[in-house]
Amino acid sequence: MPKHPRKFSPLFDPKFTPPFCPNAKCLAHYDSSTFRWFRHASYPTRLGRVSRFRCRDCNSTFSSSTFSTTYYLKQPYLLALVAAGLVAGSAQRQLARSLRCSHQTVSNLAARLGRHALLFQTQALRHVAQINERVIYDDFETFAYSQDAAMGIGTAVGSSSYFLFGIEATRHRGPGALVKRGKPLEEPDRFACSYSDAIQRTLDRLLGLVPADESLQFILDGHPGYIRGIRKHPGQERVEYHVFKNPKNRRKGEPRSPEARRRDAAHFASDLCHKLLRHSLADHRRETIAHGKRHNAVMERVALFMIWRNFSKHRSERKPGETPAMRLGLTDRPLDWTDLLKERLFLSRIPLSPSWLHVYKRAWITPEVGANTRHDLVHAH
Ligand SMILES: [Zn+2]
Repeated sequence: MPKHPRKFSPLFDPKFTPPFCPNAKCLAHYDSSTFRWFRHASYPTRLGRVSRFRCRDCNSTFSSSTFSTTYYLKQPYLLALVAAGLVAGSAQRQLARSLRCSHQTVSNLAARLGRHALLFQTQALRHVAQINERVIYDDFETFAYSQDAAMGIGTAVGSSSYFLFGIEATRHRGPGALVKRGKPLEEPDRFACSYSDAIQRTLDRLLGLVPADESLQFILDGHPGYIRGIRKHPGQERVEYHVFKNPKNRRKGEPRSPEARRRDAAHFASDLCHKLLRHSLADHRRETIAHGKRHNAVMERVALFMIWRNFSKHRSERKPGETPAMRLGLTDRPLDWTDLLKERLFLSRIPLSPSWLHVYKRAWITPEVGANTRHDLVHAH
């Protein structure tokens, strides 16, 4: 197994300088211009020497590894390999066998990668100057734990950039959806209620990226939940939506109707995103036995897919060379996992939206499986 820890982390770079104080209680954590530090020590490891630093403001010490996405990992080289494997359709145990590690290690890394992806996407959205295209909103239908526990993942995709702006989950009400084996939800899960709530959270995210005197152009398939959500939203006057209804199922061999052709053309970018989701993530394949067990973990993996789709995957396979992020002017080249996992992102510096924070903290409980460990570790991220 090739091990390339040096390639994936600034850990052993002798010229590394800390960009800000990693202590969230220190002012220099938020304002790097006031950050003063000195090199305080170094220590040898199997793989190289790691420098330690001390902040002159709060006196806390830290090392170059504190700023690495592989912080606290015993096998740092696994992080990028697991990320690449997860979006290449590997199930977690398959990946564990290929990488010769425990399947629990793969699960833990998948969660860490999902959290990193949520922060990465939030940071990237700050740099989007404005949305100059129509945005297609549609739900990707899947399930977690069992087919009775259906869920939708609302995706907002740029119609010409193909950039996936956001993901919001909805847990469907239906047979066995909310209560299974007599276990009620532990708490009212306000982030997993309805199509209407999910589209409102998406509007919260997108309206900030549209100039105040312009409106957001939405393309929808006419689901009543979407229209209800837009009408309930305080910014509804700034939303213009165009409905292209899903056509009825065709008989075999029957040609597409003109309405169906118009719908397919309008929804192309979103349909492509959903096809890639099914193709790239093992848990969304049809008839799979690798389906997600917890809604929270499903969302973490979709978040990882989101940054890979936006920053690494080319917009089109037939015309490669440009990623969705390049089309929006966020990057000037496709990013690989080395770039995407280059630096650790801090939750204290990049505030997440409430629903993404819910996923980040692993606060979304799947009642069929039972309570899971929340993510409230102090040092890990
Ligand atoms: Zn400090």
